[in-house]
Amino acid sequence: NQLSDAQSALAAPLFADVAGDIDVSFEFFPPKTEKMEETLWESVETLAPLGPRFVSVTYGAGGSTRERTHATVARIVRETAIPAAAHLTCVDATREEIDQVARAYWEAGVRHIVALRGDPPRAGERFQTHPGGYENAADLVRGLKAIAPFEVSVAAYPECHPDSPSAQADLDNLRAKMDAGADRAITQFFHEPETFFRYRDAVAKAGIDAEIVPGIMPVSTFAAVKRMSAMCGTNVPAWLERLFVGLEDHAAARQLVAATIAAELCRKLYAGGVRHFHFYTLNRAELAYAICHLLGKRPVAAEAALDAAA
Ligand code: FAD
Repeated sequence: NQLSDAQSALAAPLFADVAGDIDVSFEFFPPKTEKMEETLWESVETLAPLGPRFVSVTYGAGGSTRERTHATVARIVRETAIPAAAHLTCVDATREEIDQVARAYWEAGVRHIVALRGDPPRAGERFQTHPGGYENAADLVRGLKAIAPFEVSVAAYPECHPDSPSAQADLDNLRAKMDAGADRAITQFFHEPETFFRYRDAVAKAGIDAEIVPGIMPVSTFAAVKRMSAMCGTNVPAWLERLFVGLEDHAAARQLVAATIAAELCRKLYAGGVRHFHFYTLNRAELAYAICHLLGKRPVAAEAALDAAA
């Protein structure tokens, strides 16, 4: 009655390896309309019970969402117990203007900034430092740390930033950001676990001792993800495209496929030792919630009840 190798592998209980021993964080963008604000707020309320390490709110290109980002982060600080992080970029602003925004965050109780250089205001142009502005993300991190003891996260690129002349230059840039005082790096999204593991190894080999948190982008519309991937130099594997062919008119099936792919990616990352996942939620909670659930993450109150019952 010997099991074959394949049977033995299959005999392991499904999802037995995940224990919920993970940290999660969720990224939102500032809403443009009242309806979008409602959706965002519902998402925050859905995800809050998972006890995220932080939630962050992006900053639109060229500072276009400065007020909305501030209002959203300030509301999270006022109305929830979740640590909130504000994204901030160097684009189209002097140091004084950015410092003022940072000071306003500190006064509003925000203690965590995601510090970024940002993209040029017009797509396709090369980034130019604003006269009197911060030169890049490393420069911004230094500026922020001089203003207040903010916790600072920065961006990292497993597939290299498109502006970077080489992978080595990109690692040197990450090192510069950590040396400037950053506390962790969150990666650009990627589609295959090996991409992350190769990058994590390269970071360690370069002697950079930083927490590298994978950024997870659940694919809800393949065309949008393909467009975004092209913009940020993220490779789109052929298998991913194949999985979405024929689902254009099947929104519910697409969601299920997207959740399955992202959950599979996260399970492999988990098996490789990852214990903090950052989700690009696109202001929708359900995909991120389902993936967290599959990884064993439960609402904090439910967890306490289970502990009490044990
Ligand atoms: P940096 O780390 O400063 O550098 C980017 C590139 O330029 C690197 O390749 C580096 O090698 C090169 N470089 C930097 N300085 C120099 C120098 N002095 N000389 C030569 N080369 C140099 N964008 C937004 O607009 N708003 C957001 O809210 C936002 N959130 C993000 C969140 C995450 C987790 C990530 C991964 C990205 C986010 N972005 C956001 C996108 C980001 O702004 C762009 O990727 C931008 O092009 C680079 O920003 P950075 O902070 O990585 O730049």
